[in-house]
Amino acid sequence: MTLLVQKYGGTSVGTVERIKNVAARIKGCREQGQDIVVVLSAMSGETNRLLRLSNEITTRPIPRELDVLLSTGEQVTIALLCMALHEQGCEARSYTGAQVHIRTDSAFNKARILEIDEQKVRSDIAQGRVVVVAGFQGVDQGGNITTLGRGGSDTTAVALAAALKAEECQIYTDVDGVYTTDPRVVPQARRLERITFEEMLEMASLGSKVLQIRAVEFASKYDVPLRVLSSFEEGEGTLITEEEQQDMERAVISGIAFNRDEAKLTILGVPDQPGVAHQIVGPIGNANIELDMIIQNVGADGTTDFTFTVHRSDYQKALDILRKLADDLGAREVEGDDKIAKISLVGVGMRSHAGIASTMFRALAEEGINIRMISTSEIKISVVVDDKYLELGVRALHSAFQLE
Ligand code: ASP
Ligand code: MG
Repeated sequence: MTLLVQKYGGTSVGTVERIKNVAARIKGCREQGQDIVVVLSAMSGETNRLLRLSNEITTRPIPRELDVLLSTGEQVTIALLCMALHEQGCEARSYTGAQVHIRTDSAFNKARILEIDEQKVRSDIAQGRVVVVAGFQGVDQGGNITTLGRGGSDTTAVALAAALKAEECQIYTDVDGVYTTDPRVVPQARRLERITFEEMLEMASLGSKVLQIRAVEFASKYDVPLRVLSSFEEGEGTLITEEEQQDMERAVISGIAFNRDEAKLTILGVPDQPGVAHQIVGPIGNANIELDMIIQNVGADGTTDFTFTVHRSDYQKALDILRKLADDLGAREVEGDDKIAKISLVGVGMRSHAGIASTMFRALAEEGINIRMISTSEIKISVVVDDKYLELGVRALHSAFQLE
C-alpha cells in the first residue's frame, strides 16, 4: 500500500458541494488501494472573516486568543469532510492539530512545528481509516493552540508527509500545476511537469503564489516529493523534487517570475570609505525594512552611489530614512522610484550553460526596454525595469527562451 498525504486548500473545500467532491476523490484513491491522510484548510474566505471579527474588537488582539479564533476554520472543514466520507461509505476520522500532537514553539500566529507524534495517525490507517487533520494549527508545550502563519496548511501537510514517510505530498488547489510564468500575462505559458525545490523556492519568493515558501523549504529539507494539482480537473500536476543529475534534456530555464511590489532608492555621492554601506543599510534594517537587491557603484572622485530595492509598501519610510541619512553622510542627493518591476529567469540549468544573460538582455533590448538594475545568483538572473514594461518584458523573454 502506498501512503499519500493530500492537502486541499480553501477553494477546494469552499462549499458543501465541493467538500462532497473532495470526499468522492478520496474514496476513488481508497478504491485503488491507497492509504490517505488528508490535511484541510478552512473554507475560502473564512480565515479572513475571522480576522475581521477580531478587528471589530481590537486592532491589537492578544496573539494567543487570535490563534484560538483562527484555528476554528479548519475544525469546521475536517468534520464536514469526515461526514461526507461516511456518507459515501468511507471510514474516516478527523483530528485537530493538538489531537495528533503537532507540537510547535510558542510563537503565536507564526509558530514553527517542532515534532509530530504520528502514532495515532498510523494506528487509524492500520484500521483502514482515512485520517483528516486540521491544517495550519498545532499545540505548544503548555497546551496552547498555535497557528503557523497564513497559508500554513501546506506546511502541516508536508510535515505530516515527512513524519509518516509518505510516498508523496499532494497539494490540491485551484490551479492545475506550476506554470512557466503567469498565464494571465502570457497565455502560452505551459504547465511544468517537474521543477526542483530550489527553482520552486525562487519562483515562490519572486511572487508566484502557488505554495507557501516554508512548506517548500520543509519539503526540501526532508526530501518529501511535492505535487501541485487541481481538485477540479484530472491531471498529473507539477512534481517538485530534488534535482536529477541524469536529466540531460531538461530546459535551461524553467520559468519566469516577476513582481511589481518593489521600489528602488538611490543615495548619490556618499563618501567612498569603510563603514558607509553599513551606515546606510543599518538604519533601514532597524526600521524592519527588508532589502532585496543592493548595488554599489565603482567609486569616482572619492564618492560612490548606493542603490537598493525594498517592498513598495516600505518605500516612503525608506525614503524618509535615506533623506535624513543623506544629511548626516554629506551625500549629494537621494532619488527614488516606486514604478518599477522585477523580472527573473529561474533555472538550475544556468549552472551549466553560458550565454543566458546575453540572450536575456538582447530580448529586452529588441523591445526597447531599458534595464535599470541587474542581479544574479546561481540559478537566477533578475532585472529591474519600468513598471509599464513588465508584461512586454515577460512575453519577450518567454518566447526568447522558447518556453511555450
Ligand atoms: N486557513 C489558513 C489561511 O487562510 C491556512 C491555509 O489556508 O493554509 O491562511
Ligand atoms: Mg490557503
